[in-house]
Amino acid sequence: MEEKTARRRVVLVPTPAQGHITPMMQLAKTLHLKGFSITVVQTKFNHFIPSDDFTDFQFVTIPESLPKSALKDLGPIQFLLKLNKECQVSFKECLSQLLLQQSNEISCVIYDEFMYFAEAAAKEFKLPNVILSTTSATAFVCRSVFDKLYANNVMAPLEEPKGKENELVPEFHPLRYKDFPVSRWASTESTMELYRNTVDKRTASSVIINTASCLESSSLSFLQQQLKIPVYPIGPLHMVASASTSLLEENKTCIEWLNKQKKNSVIFVSMGSVALMQIKEVMETALGLDSSNQQFLWVIRPGSVRGSEWIEYLPKEFINIITGRGYIVKWAPQKEVLSHPAVGGFWSHCGWNSTLESIGEGVPMICKPFSTDQKVNARYLECVWKIGIQVEGELDRRAVERAVTRLMVDEEGEEMRKRAVSLKEQLRASVKSGGSSHNSLEEFVNFMRTL
Ligand code: UDP
Repeated sequence: MEEKTARRRVVLVPTPAQGHITPMMQLAKTLHLKGFSITVVQTKFNHFIPSDDFTDFQFVTIPESLPKSALKDLGPIQFLLKLNKECQVSFKECLSQLLLQQSNEISCVIYDEFMYFAEAAAKEFKLPNVILSTTSATAFVCRSVFDKLYANNVMAPLEEPKGKENELVPEFHPLRYKDFPVSRWASTESTMELYRNTVDKRTASSVIINTASCLESSSLSFLQQQLKIPVYPIGPLHMVASASTSLLEENKTCIEWLNKQKKNSVIFVSMGSVALMQIKEVMETALGLDSSNQQFLWVIRPGSVRGSEWIEYLPKEFINIITGRGYIVKWAPQKEVLSHPAVGGFWSHCGWNSTLESIGEGVPMICKPFSTDQKVNARYLECVWKIGIQVEGELDRRAVERAVTRLMVDEEGEEMRKRAVSLKEQLRASVKSGGSSHNSLEEFVNFMRTL
């Protein structure tokens, strides 16, 4: 059996964004360890430069004509719609070349749910294909019922005139209308077009999801029933395979700074790789962090604040304050930061990777989602897993200070920390031999060997 898999090649197609490349490359590492050869097809846009972790892998780049600023300019939904149109032909050509070149057969194409153009080419060449969902199972469920909810006027409250956004969506408790994964930057039509495509299994033979059943069992059952093909929850993938996948250079000096801080005394603040903030929001965060009197490690990505290069707008007095109590970096080794004993809380935009990484280290969160699935994750963190405090409405210094104090100082935060540690243990058990994600991965690999 091992010999057969050693000759089988899997073609992987990640979406070109940090939060999608990372889980796809963790899957690549996992499958490689199981004996598969790996080809990764990337777009020219935002392509990942392989680290030494991937010396045995083949990387191929397909052209498209998207400018560097496309994701920022178009917003995620329009960007993904355009990317799918742009890559259709080039991926087909790429796959046909790979089929000509490969001495070892290609057994399967695994594509990120948002790179659905890959399915048409796989189908044309009669290659089995599998979807990797890098968002939560619950976000997948929300996208899959989106059309129906709109058709039944259930989602109407999201549109003007507003008023019902705080009400619970029937049958989707605890999600409220405003928690559904829409983006205020995209029209309903574009959102529906994208979501229809991402949840359409087409000819896919199975779906892999980067989640664990202890986190989302009812959403997983729903998907299993609805999709009618095997659904494999094999995550969190970062606990299954470690791989260096950063698109930006990690500033490791923050670990030295953390080494000097007391246990659970630091709040880590990071909004992921895509979210954009206004200068006013950053200023209010800075002032709130200041008045909370807590230590903080803050990632401010260059270009993540509209209309500025980095932090040139922060007043000198604040910079002086932070030299005593805080540390700012452009990009951090996030998983290492979250596993550091000094970190007692995570202020996050609640991207799915950040959510899994935080739970995986037993770190409770302050949730400030910006868009799409982040809102679903934030709601689950607060109301289902009860390890998060959501900050809603406009960001002001008092709300920042209150949230940080609740999480880092109050008894409430300590209770959340205990629950987060218990969830961490459950996640660790799920990826160990005999655990649910481990078993799911074994089933998936056995299925791949039959292709
Ligand atoms: N990340 C990191 N360093 C940082 C900020 C983020 O390595 O300073 C990583 C983080 O560990 C996570 C990914 O970037 O794996 C962000 O993915 P997520 O799904 O949380 O959010 P997105 O960037 O897709 O909005």
